[in-house]
Amino acid sequence: MSDDLQFAARRNPNEPEFLQTVTEVYDSIKVVLEAEPAYRKAKIFERLAEPERVVMFRVPWQDDSGEYQVNRGFRVQWSSAIGPYKGGCRFHPSVNMSIMKFLAFEQTLKNSLTTLPMGGGKGGADFDPKGKSDDEVMRFCQSFMGEMFRHIGPDTDIPAGDIGVGGREIGFMFGAYKKIKNEFSGVLTGKGLSYGGSRIRPEATGYGNVYFADEMAKTAGRSLAGAACLVSGSGNVAQFTLEKLLHLGAKPITASDSDGYAHAPEGLTSDMVEFIKDLKNNRRGRIKELAEAFRNVEYVAFGRNGSSGLQWNHRADCVFPSATQNEINEGDAETLVRRGVWLVSEGSNMSATLGGAAVFQKAKILYAPAKASNAGGVAVSGLEMCQNSMRHQWSAEEVDRRLKNIMVTIHKTCLETAARYNRPGDYVFGANAAGFVKVAQAMTAQGLV
Ligand code: NDP
Repeated sequence: MSDDLQFAARRNPNEPEFLQTVTEVYDSIKVVLEAEPAYRKAKIFERLAEPERVVMFRVPWQDDSGEYQVNRGFRVQWSSAIGPYKGGCRFHPSVNMSIMKFLAFEQTLKNSLTTLPMGGGKGGADFDPKGKSDDEVMRFCQSFMGEMFRHIGPDTDIPAGDIGVGGREIGFMFGAYKKIKNEFSGVLTGKGLSYGGSRIRPEATGYGNVYFADEMAKTAGRSLAGAACLVSGSGNVAQFTLEKLLHLGAKPITASDSDGYAHAPEGLTSDMVEFIKDLKNNRRGRIKELAEAFRNVEYVAFGRNGSSGLQWNHRADCVFPSATQNEINEGDAETLVRRGVWLVSEGSNMSATLGGAAVFQKAKILYAPAKASNAGGVAVSGLEMCQNSMRHQWSAEEVDRRLKNIMVTIHKTCLETAARYNRPGDYVFGANAAGFVKVAQAMTAQGLV
């Protein structure tokens, strides 16, 4: 292990997800550091491997039966080198410091790639919104914001959604912030259209991922039209990945949640995608209900020991993992490659383990890392900030056009950067190096802060 990585490993001994992302990124960055000794001298990598600030706090709230509950909240403000901290909040029982830090570190490089002036951050809590009433979720969000408001602001840190945090949660948090601060500002993104949200924000991560994949396919003279696609998850990112795949004539055949996956051998139809949206966003049901409602859909449960790899056993052309980190391990990746997959575009952050990613890279299939392919969500969040500053709302067509341009630009940047460092076609390297260089330039210019 290099000295740089040992430095990170020594300081963060119990943070496997964080060390995984630092290791993955360092593999690319070391090439840049060799070419740019000034960055090494200024210890840019070591500085970037430390968050600017971490806040951890108690979130007490009362459930519907009157009992008091306590959760742990986080806000990790990783880097403000190129703009105010920006990144979502995740509410999931698995949330801990390692996951928060991995997400905030990744976010910093991702935001750098978007072309917009946004630093990196992430937050959340080990709270599980599943099975909670709307009132319980509201009380939790109000208590969470009761502490987080001190650390954020439209020019300081602008949180948004992630797993377990959608329109409902953003609404409750925005309401709480507005009341505490007596200020109507663009302090959160992913807001509803009636109070400062941007059109196409809900769609942005999924649509952006498919736009990116479409660009990748073109470089290989291929097309998504007619391509059989495996999609995991059934939340925000998965829903709009499915929708855009259908727009482009592709054939998505799976969707999942943490209990199991639905498989439609003839392809999921737009009726089924609408069903999933209603099921997950309004009725908050389980994906198995899709198979109960449509005859040509089968449901496979994952079982107790997390056999979620089952969903990767189907023959397909393209894969859009859109649930959570490390959902594709080395064995899954080998199965996918062996069965003919030619494109993997990550919707979830760090969808593949280090071993899984290595299999895709070795096989030289088209493989996009999340920080490039799922950057559309934060990009439209950046456009939401822009619209809030102007006190203006663009049309859906205008936002979609800008989103598409940003994804095309990120794709081009990845390829050009990879080629410049003699790693042609390596999107992982291109994304890491391009994201890093912009942050490194800003840090160098701003001195030792
Ligand atoms: P949602 O909460 O809307 O949906 C998450 C989906 O993934 C659900 O189907 C959920 O199933 C499933 N899931 C979550 N955790 C696990 C787990 N541990 N094992 C198996 N399945 C799981 O989240 P999003 O769609 O917003 O986020 C999905 C991914 O995309 C995350 O990695 C997130 O970081 C990333 N992302 C999201 C962005 C956004 O704009 N929302 C932007 C960029 C990245 P269940 O309901 O059963 O838990």
